[in-house]
Amino acid sequence: MQKNLREILTYIGDNPAREGLNETPKRIIKSWQKLFAGYNQKPESVLKTFTEGSCSEMVILKDIEFYSMCEHHFLPFFGTISIGYLPDKKVIGISKLARLVEIYARRLQIQENLVAQIADSLMENLKPLGVMVVCKAKHMCICSRGVEKHQAEMITSALRGVFNRHEVRQEFLQFIQRI
Ligand code: ZN
Repeated sequence: MQKNLREILTYIGDNPAREGLNETPKRIIKSWQKLFAGYNQKPESVLKTFTEGSCSEMVILKDIEFYSMCEHHFLPFFGTISIGYLPDKKVIGISKLARLVEIYARRLQIQENLVAQIADSLMENLKPLGVMVVCKAKHMCICSRGVEKHQAEMITSALRGVFNRHEVRQEFLQFIQRI
């Protein structure tokens, strides 16, 4: 793999043997352990549910920071994700929602699939009445190349179950827009 990366460095016009680049292939591979850690984790392993102390109102975790990699350009995209669900008897530890985001963000992704996979995984493992996931992100593939619009933010959402109802969706959106 290090040999392949040295070839890439040559391809872009640099000299992989120079001092500053000597260790770069090794460092790139090491960074992948974190950037792509999601492939080795299963969502069901973090989604332990419990019924004690469960509530019947909407549960929201807002503005979870994430870093991901665009599968089309192998460039980072990053931003925040807000998740809401309406429990049906079972709830999960709120930090588990953040862990779930990590599992799906730390892969090659597109923003549309990221929200859908988080929503589907919650529906499957937690079996709530509904889920909504909203993601706001900046893409390096838009900022630094292509159309070069560095202020543009992309917003995607996924809604499942009762969140298809207007009033449920509105309640969630009001919560996440409030400071
Ligand atoms: Zn891209």
